[in-house]
Amino acid sequence: MNNELLIVANWKMNISHDETFSFVTKHYDDLSKLAATTKHTVVLCPSFTTLYPLHNVLKDTPLKLGAQDCSNHIKGAFTGQVSAQSLKSLGCSYCIVGHSERRKYNGETSEAVAQKASLLISQGITPIICIGENSSEYDQGITLATLEQQLAPVFAAFAGQCSRSVRTPLYIAYEPTWAIGTGNVPSHKHLEVVFSWLSAHTQKSCCPGIWKFLYGGSITGQSAADIKKVSHVNGLLIGQASLDFQEFKKIVE
Ligand code: PEP
Repeated sequence: MNNELLIVANWKMNISHDETFSFVTKHYDDLSKLAATTKHTVVLCPSFTTLYPLHNVLKDTPLKLGAQDCSNHIKGAFTGQVSAQSLKSLGCSYCIVGHSERRKYNGETSEAVAQKASLLISQGITPIICIGENSSEYDQGITLATLEQQLAPVFAAFAGQCSRSVRTPLYIAYEPTWAIGTGNVPSHKHLEVVFSWLSAHTQKSCCPGIWKFLYGGSITGQSAADIKKVSHVNGLLIGQASLDFQEFKKIVE
């Protein structure tokens, strides 16, 4: 069993600003207690609009704050985008980039994902870089080739940056799109193959030793224990189940 894990709640746009506040207020004591008593690090990722108010509410707890995305530009005329620098001032310690929903609905490329991760690092924010194959790629047996392609621009962007400015672990979240929100979780065998490959592949990258790995996709209180046992898994990225406090608690515990 892997020890200290990163457990990330991705609330997506599933709950509004008010609903997020009601959730956190209702479960404030339990969430604080959970984060204080677990050996794991618990990260909450609300919408951009709720980041700062939540930062104020959570600042006396061990809970960490994460964003769901950031701009791939430093600053400038990019209407509607939010910079890594702003995320830093809003109290974010983590930021998800390259989620498959952003790749699908916002045409996000692996090159843009790499730029985002690089900008986050320069602000001292830990990126959580999402990669994963779709069901057709899975069926064709090209999962690893797909992951390799998605990671190549990331390694290229970090070449030269690692030794100088990276003080934080870099997280890669393996999230097969066919597992997200479907109730399907890959077999233990598949996860062992993927995470062992990720571990070996990143060792050959520009910054060996700095990478950590999360699994995401339909995790529940029931499936979490088995996933935590997969070699090289350093944490979990949780969508739907993180909106149910009892289920989330079960996953963390
Ligand atoms: C996700 O989209 O990052 C995710 C893990 O979603 P779910 O847990 O709902 O499958």
